[in-house]
Amino acid sequence: MGGNNWKKTVRRLQKLYNKIFNIRNDEYQKLSTEIIKSFDLIGLENLGVKSMIKNPRLSHSISQISWSRLIDMIKYKASWYDKKCIQISKAFPSSKLCNKCGYKKEDLTLAIREWTCPECKTKHDRDINASINILNEAIRINNECTTGQVGI
Ligand SMILES: [Zn+2]
Repeated sequence: MGGNNWKKTVRRLQKLYNKIFNIRNDEYQKLSTEIIKSFDLIGLENLGVKSMIKNPRLSHSISQISWSRLIDMIKYKASWYDKKCIQISKAFPSSKLCNKCGYKKEDLTLAIREWTCPECKTKHDRDINASINILNEAIRINNECTTGQVGI
């Protein structure tokens, strides 16, 4: 491949990348506004790069950069619309806890997408169970903050 063709290809790729980036940006703007308008309290998980790449659903649909941009949008829009946005600690085991009884499945690996709680026999979809746990934790933190502010 000649030097000129290579440069053309790179330019084309850059244009395409910018196009995709803009489409995503626009979609995320819409999505973050929709999320903010629909809910008063939003719980966010503090996802590290490692767990993002290991999660097959996320790594296919969303890149690390777009994910953090979406999180940023949700955060600043929460302040515009006077909504609460709570980021959960990285140490919180959102996937491992049974949202029904609180049992902690220590041996849950990233490959396991569905599991049944040995204590209460509830069948879990990994992501849905984690989402419920994150929401419950966000509500708990929010209540703690609200209670703490009373009387000040
Ligand atoms: Zn359970």
